[in-house]
Amino acid sequence: MCSLSRYYDAMKFTNTYYQLPERFYAPFKPYAFGHPELIIFNDSLAKDLGFNPSDLTPNDLAQFFTGLKTLPGSELKALAYAGHQFGHFVPSLGDGRAALIGEITTSSGKSFDLQLKGSGPTFFSRRGDGLSALGPALREYLVSEAMFYLGVPTTRSLAVVATGDLVAREEELPGGVLTRVASSHLRIGTFQYFAARRDLEALEILLHYSVKRHYSHLDHLSLPEKALEFLRSVAMRQVDLIAKWMGFGFIHGVMNTDNMSISGETLDFGPCAFMDHFNFYQVYSFIDKQGRYSYGEQPKILLWNLSRLADCLVPLVDQDEKKAVEKLNAILSDIPKKIEQTITNVFAHKLGIKEETEQKEKVVGEWLNYLHETKLDFTLAHYRLSQMDDFFPQTESWEKFYKSWKEASPERTENQNPLYIPRNHLIESVIQAAYQGDYAPFHELHEKLKNPFSPGQKELDKFSTPPEEKEKIKNTFCGT
Ligand code: AMP
Ligand code: MG
Repeated sequence: MCSLSRYYDAMKFTNTYYQLPERFYAPFKPYAFGHPELIIFNDSLAKDLGFNPSDLTPNDLAQFFTGLKTLPGSELKALAYAGHQFGHFVPSLGDGRAALIGEITTSSGKSFDLQLKGSGPTFFSRRGDGLSALGPALREYLVSEAMFYLGVPTTRSLAVVATGDLVAREEELPGGVLTRVASSHLRIGTFQYFAARRDLEALEILLHYSVKRHYSHLDHLSLPEKALEFLRSVAMRQVDLIAKWMGFGFIHGVMNTDNMSISGETLDFGPCAFMDHFNFYQVYSFIDKQGRYSYGEQPKILLWNLSRLADCLVPLVDQDEKKAVEKLNAILSDIPKKIEQTITNVFAHKLGIKEETEQKEKVVGEWLNYLHETKLDFTLAHYRLSQMDDFFPQTESWEKFYKSWKEASPERTENQNPLYIPRNHLIESVIQAAYQGDYAPFHELHEKLKNPFSPGQKELDKFSTPPEEKEKIKNTFCGT
């Protein structure tokens, strides 16, 4: 047989989601793109998934990862979900510019969704074209992979293909399709979709499915404990996730409930950004005029989003709504403290202080005050502090912090404070080069981001230098 069949054999599409009732998804017909061209393929991720891409030509991959050709065992579908967008509930969102290719189970028994993003209109597209420009696809590739190398739970990127067609945005831009790999695409919004329809049967099916897929240690429980422990477990994962974001100065930008994954992975890299100079209330997203999703608001929004998940679980917890709400609230009421402690611990680690240090809250608080006051670059300040560098502006708040920090016996840290993060001005410049047909800067940046921690490096290079005022990107946009 030809080499292609070996490749096919290696992949096990299990597609458990498609065994759920038909109202969970809609069929999808791929868009006929002109001349797809493979821009990047993630070989190491492919191998983890059981692919052997060396058997395929870039052209084959470009066809598969735009949906023009279908991999055996795969079925393309758009998934249904709802969501609160900036606090307003939209009962039907769904995959408007994405389609699930199917679900792969690796030899170690873990399963992953493969999803095309920007592959054409779906049942859920509303007025959108279902397409994506190449820029946002390259951006998601860079940021999601950077997240992975930083050790933050995240969806990953398998491929970017330039479609060969133009998409109409403010100006016409080359189109792109990103292939996303996620532990699943279950979102808080998926629960909201069925809760809003009072479809109790679907809600219960979704709960059992989500537990099996992500929290199998709860599978032996029955209702209502299963629903309650599910909420607690999702909350714990999301608390850990947001604490990690905070520790890297990451601002998600659109923490809508449809973008909050049940698995606790970072999902959707739209107007996100790693902050340059420290500002507790930093916002980059052009659409976030009120600062709802600013850096410092993220922990509060996390709780708000979890409360929306809790709302959905009410009918599964108790027929008596009041009793159900009491039980769910008992779980939620522990979260604010947990968030605070987890974030403090993340920063304590960054400052080289042991978790059991009594005065850690004080030291961390003084450090953040100092950063806020001096507006130092978030990433470099942490990197230099961890290297015990003495470049810091000596203000009153520095003296205060320095004294408490020294008393807390800090140790040099490695692999807590990166030197390389995907700064917005770098991403923007590699996208602009890509639009001119030059992909070398994109690949160069991507390689750099594979080794974010570079302990002991004294000199800055163009990837670690913060943007000058004129280079700063003031606004980021969704991929739409
Ligand atoms: P996002 O801002 O990426 O989380 O998307 C929010 C919702 O808008 C989702 O339901 C998307 O599928 C949908 N959407 C975003 N962009 C497009 C587009 N170009 N065409 C159709 N639907 C879109
Ligand atoms: Mg989204």
